[in-house]
Amino acid sequence: MADLDGEKRNLIDGQLVDASNGATFDNINPATEEVIGVCADGTKEDMDTAIAAARRAFDETSWSTDPAFRQKCLSQLCEALSEAKERLRPIVTAEAGAPALLTNGVQCDSYIDCMPYWANLAGSYEYEKPMSDIQFMGQPQRRLLRREATGVVGAITPWNFPLALNLTKLGPALAAGNTVVLKPAPDTPWCATHIGRLVHEKTDIPAGVVNVVASADHAVGAILSSDPRVDLVTFTGSTATGRRVMEAASATIKKVFLELGGKSANIILDDAPFEQVLPFGATVCTHAGQGCALQTRMLLPRARYEEGLEILAAAFEKLPYGDPTDPGKLMGPLVSKKQQERVLYYIEKGIEEGARVVSGGGVPAHLSKGFFVEPTLLADVDPDSTVAQEEIFGPVLCVIPYEDEEDAVRIANNSIYGLSGGVTSASEERALSVARRIRTGTLSVNGGQWYDVDTPFGGYRQSGIGRESGVLGFEEYLETKVIGLPGKQ
Ligand code: NAD
Repeated sequence: MADLDGEKRNLIDGQLVDASNGATFDNINPATEEVIGVCADGTKEDMDTAIAAARRAFDETSWSTDPAFRQKCLSQLCEALSEAKERLRPIVTAEAGAPALLTNGVQCDSYIDCMPYWANLAGSYEYEKPMSDIQFMGQPQRRLLRREATGVVGAITPWNFPLALNLTKLGPALAAGNTVVLKPAPDTPWCATHIGRLVHEKTDIPAGVVNVVASADHAVGAILSSDPRVDLVTFTGSTATGRRVMEAASATIKKVFLELGGKSANIILDDAPFEQVLPFGATVCTHAGQGCALQTRMLLPRARYEEGLEILAAAFEKLPYGDPTDPGKLMGPLVSKKQQERVLYYIEKGIEEGARVVSGGGVPAHLSKGFFVEPTLLADVDPDSTVAQEEIFGPVLCVIPYEDEEDAVRIANNSIYGLSGGVTSASEERALSVARRIRTGTLSVNGGQWYDVDTPFGGYRQSGIGRESGVLGFEEYLETKVIGLPGKQ
């Protein structure tokens, strides 16, 4: 596609480079199945060079100790990203299949607009402050609490929100004074390599501080979890891969920061205004359901179950999906053939285990190209069944009936995940009291939204370790040092 400004080179040690062996891999548009271009297929040697560069930049430059310089460089990056917005936007849609509509918000603009937050925090954060004085063995003592950059950060990202999640890693990690090796998902390399190009061409960020190593080979990224020169791995992706990252990181007792999967429950209490709120249940298909925090289980009260299903079915039939470049569409394709097959497998599995297909359930007949799956409404889902327990990561809503409030809370918490969720009731007080009992990192009550750059986002249980964004997210990238000094007599 001539109008896409894809960057095929990796950024390693301050240079935009091809792979060490010259290899490339195809970047495929999931809506058209066409190759939109190629990307350097980073090798293990490239990863080694990138880690060495990041190590040297951390140990031998003033990047980690000069917050004012970091603020200046990150402000340059903010400006470069703002200027590049209209070039990045079509890349997100072309390589991730993300609806163009979403690039006005969470797939592009929101995260570019958030970047000044990190630049400012780099300069304004209080890295050193006194603690209260103490007595030790009868002698007065003073203490200083210092926060310092952790070191070399390995950042591994998924394909579902490629630009947003790369920036979510780079912003705080760099602002806190770390050096970074970013390894994007092979399905969406250009969102990362384009950022690498901006860093190289438009900022004074020293060589080695930011490295971008795209590769078709997951094993290249896996080096970040085991290499002793890397101090922290920040990973966003599936819980299965998160386990592998954590296991590999254990040999060097590396810090791990994990943002993993979800299976969030949307509890509709029996007094909720169904006509008003249930149509929003279909928005779980936004971006073909490829969002970790989407509320993919809907819990409906048994007494109003059929009434609820009817409203949901109508909303599913109306959900606009198809060509993601069409600004009227909420849903595009799955990112790859593999993901399409995975979603279809889960729908079959759901049916096998007793679920009823109320809407969708297959590949849309009217779309001859692209990795699409119809918006799918599964009813009568058993809360213990595979589709209620495992992350489908597709345009599928699982509807589960419940008996009473206790039952709803029990079903919502019956999960290895704990990322997000929702509660709706005519009474905010009642909804809030249920929300307080749900074991998840974020929750929406009566449709209230929690997302912003200063919202600490992350999960309970196997949805992850740590919180991304906000001051808490920034502090994930800092070490803690306490210095004792003799007290004044
Ligand atoms: P994935 O786990 O397959 O891949 C994520 C990244 O890990 C990719 O860059 C991949 O190349 C890399 N990778 C694969 N194997 C690896 C290994 N052994 N060691 C190191 N890196 C390895 O996930 P995905 O399919 O790309 O993304 C979808 C998943 O991401 C979903 O489960 C979703 O819920 C999750 N996700 C979570 C959040 C969150 O913040 N909690 C946000 C977005 C996506």
